[in-house]
Order: sequence, then C-alpha cells, then structure tokens
Amino acid sequence: MQRPSVGGVLQLLWQERQISRAEIARRSGLSRSTVSEIVGDLLKTRLVAEVGDGPSQGGRRPIVLQFQDDAYAVLGIDMGAGHISVALANLRGQLIAWEHRSHPVRTDPEGTVSCMKELSEACLRQWKGGTERLVGIGIAVPSPVDPRNPDRVSDVVMPAWQGHNVGESLRKRFRLPVFVDNDANLAALAEHWWGAGRGIDDFTYVKVATGVGAGHMIRGQIYRGAHGIAGEIGHLAIDPQGELCMCGLRGCLATRVGSRALVARASALLLEHPGSALAGREVTIGSIEDAALGGDRLALQVVGEAADYLGIAVAGMLNLMNPARVIIGGGLARLGELLLAPMRRSISSRTLVNSIDSTEIVTGELGGRAVALGAATLVLQNALADLRHFRNAAAGS
Ligand SMILES: [Zn+2]
Repeated sequence: MQRPSVGGVLQLLWQERQISRAEIARRSGLSRSTVSEIVGDLLKTRLVAEVGDGPSQGGRRPIVLQFQDDAYAVLGIDMGAGHISVALANLRGQLIAWEHRSHPVRTDPEGTVSCMKELSEACLRQWKGGTERLVGIGIAVPSPVDPRNPDRVSDVVMPAWQGHNVGESLRKRFRLPVFVDNDANLAALAEHWWGAGRGIDDFTYVKVATGVGAGHMIRGQIYRGAHGIAGEIGHLAIDPQGELCMCGLRGCLATRVGSRALVARASALLLEHPGSALAGREVTIGSIEDAALGGDRLALQVVGEAADYLGIAVAGMLNLMNPARVIIGGGLARLGELLLAPMRRSISSRTLVNSIDSTEIVTGELGGRAVALGAATLVLQNALADLRHFRNAAAGS
C-alpha cells in the first residue's frame, strides 16, 4: 500500500512543476522528513529531478525539484463509431505521436481490437521511451460504461460487441493497466485539463458526431451516475412522433442531429435546392460543413435545424444542471458561430430567465483530438494518484 500522502506530493509537484522540499512540506502540512522520504522515492522513478538552487529564504538555498514531463508517456485510444484514433502524450498532455484510421468499430470487434493494437504499436515506435516507460492505456468507447464493469460496452448501442471485452487484449499485449470510459466523459476530462474547461469545475461537454453524448463535470469530477448512463443526451426524446432510434426508442435527439440524420436531411433538401454547393457531390458531414462554411443556403438550413434540436436538449439540461459553461465538441464544432448562434437562440427561448445569461456556450479547444487525449488523461489522472503506476513502468527499464 502506498501511504496516502504520496499522491498528494506527486500532484503538487505536477501542478507546480518546480518546487523545493521545504515548500512541499509547507503546502502539504507533512513533516520535512516525510517529504524527504517521499521525494527520495520519486527521484528513483525519474519522475522528478533536482535542477539547482532556488532563492534563499534566509538560510541555505533550497534545492529545486522539477517534475519531468517527458519521463513517461500515456496512451489514449478513441474508439469512435467509425474510426480509431490513438494519441501518445507526455505527462503534460503534449502529443508525441498520433495515428488515425477509419474502421467499422460498431460491427467488427475483432478487427477493432487488432487495429487498436497496431496503431498503438505504431505510436510507440515513434517514441524513444518504448513500452517500458508507458504508464498505461486509456480507451474511450462510444457507449455508456458501467464503472463496475468498464470492459463491457452496451449491448443496446453496440450489439455486435456482446460478450467482447474492450481492454483485455491490450492489457495482455502491453502488461499495463487499461482504463475504459465513455467518449464524451473523456473529452470533457481533456477539455478540463488542457482546453476550454480549464479552471471551470462545473461544465457540460456535448459531443455531436455519429451519435450525441454529453460528459458532465461536477465539482471537478466526471459525473457518471449510478450505472454510468449519465450524459446520454442523444437519447432524450425530442419528438414523440419521430423516427425510431437504434436504441429502440422513438424521436431521440440522435435521430435529428446525428451524422446519419444530417446527411439524410441534406439529401432530401437537395431536391428543393438544385443550385446548392452539395449538388453532384457526395453528401457527407464533411461536405455539409464545408458548404455551410462557404455560405450555402441548404447546408446552413441543415445546420440551423440541428442547432435548434440541440438547443432543445441543452435547454433542458441547463435547467436541470446549471453548468457554468457548455462546451460543444465533435465534428460539427468546427462550424463555430454558424452552429452556436442558432443554438443560443433555441436555448434562450426555452430556458428559465438567467439560465442562458449565466451559461457560456462555446466550442471545444481540442477539436478532433479531445477524445483520445482524454483517454490518455484518464491514465495520467490515475497515475498521479498512485506512484505505483510509475514503479511498474520503471521496473522493466
Ligand atoms: Zn435513442
């Protein structure tokens, strides 16, 4: 067992980057001898180095300790509905390597697992540290994740994965801890540590992609609910008479603003707008976004309608949760104000007075890398709480 104070000292070092033993003792309330012992252990892991003398406080000049961001790395995998992205990052969230491939994740569990391994190995080959200095692996899945059984995805959302284990194969291959969580939760975590949610402890991240999901950050912690289903905003019923959703319910938000819905809507509208920039092109989310950015009326109508539906769901959420900020991520977020302005209008017509005024609606800062980076951040968050993650990594070196 590690003593409880070790995690605190490690986190203080990470946060301050440079600090003396005396300052750690002062800030943590631990005795100088306890701090010296803990720092001794940290020096052995190479997570911390002595980098010279700090300013004197009257007596001897104290030795400055520096957290070593590049001593280890963390790997994050974004298992999307139709792609796999892998980010290898240092302990400050800076990208060392990035690999991305389209893959039918939902329908092909075996192929997905081999692709995750392959791309992870490709990332590791680009780093001199190798597997020995990798702390662990995080996997983001497009499904609710029950914290009591995180290796299983939902049978309803991903029926082909029934009986499959998400993390097991990577755990065996790399002999490292593997953490699994929902993609929107992890994007929220990434934005909290490195992006649009920095310094904000109560916000909601809404990911608009193939599906729609939300991650709630409450008092600085991801809120998962009793069974990990919190944040499934995509399955809020927006239209009781609406289309049947893949979840079995009718009129879900995802049936209006998910990628497939937008492509279908744009294709249908093309009959009325033969002059649209989309005419004669393959209609995809990418081409709709490009056309909207170019001012195409059809594309703007599709985006405007999606923004209106999103606004209905977000308005309900604002009334319930009252977050300080709503961060919109996923593919559509690159539209910026083209999406946000109609969304704000939709929200303000449906929220209690003051609710929209006190909540900022912004786009994420991490773009398409938020989810993979969040999966890597989950590993970092766990490791900073427990030095043994670094000991394990150092044992093989
Ligand atoms: Zn649904």
